[in-house]
Amino acid sequence: MAVHSGRLEFSTQGNGDVIDLTDGVENVIRSAGVNAGVATVFVPGATAAVTAMEFEPGGIQDLKATLDRLVPPEGDYEHNRLNHDTNSHAHIRAAIVGPSESVPIEGGRLVRGSWQQLVLLDFDDRPRRRTVTVTIVG
Ligand code: ZN
Repeated sequence: MAVHSGRLEFSTQGNGDVIDLTDGVENVIRSAGVNAGVATVFVPGATAAVTAMEFEPGGIQDLKATLDRLVPPEGDYEHNRLNHDTNSHAHIRAAIVGPSESVPIEGGRLVRGSWQQLVLLDFDDRPRRRTVTVTIVG
């Protein structure tokens, strides 16, 4: 067993922007030469998240609409009041979805469903630069 790591860099639009990480993560696995193991994909930052979903326009739009209903951008948020901030909804969404996924690797590829992609979600209320870390044990 060895530990390999890689980084994926993105410019996002914020406001629920969804970016497909799948090819980037599989490139890191290929570069590491790992055939079997586990890949952990993590985004540092309190307003972004990593999850798995079907990456297609309808699903993306439905996820955004659902999060807008569950955690609306406008609200009576203590974080915004105490810190003169505007992105409390982004912190809450990031906490609910979570910052990482761990996925098995078999045959040098991620084990996943045909329509299941790994995605980065940026909930902040402005464009951001994001660095996603990929840690492979295998
Ligand atoms: Zn904030």
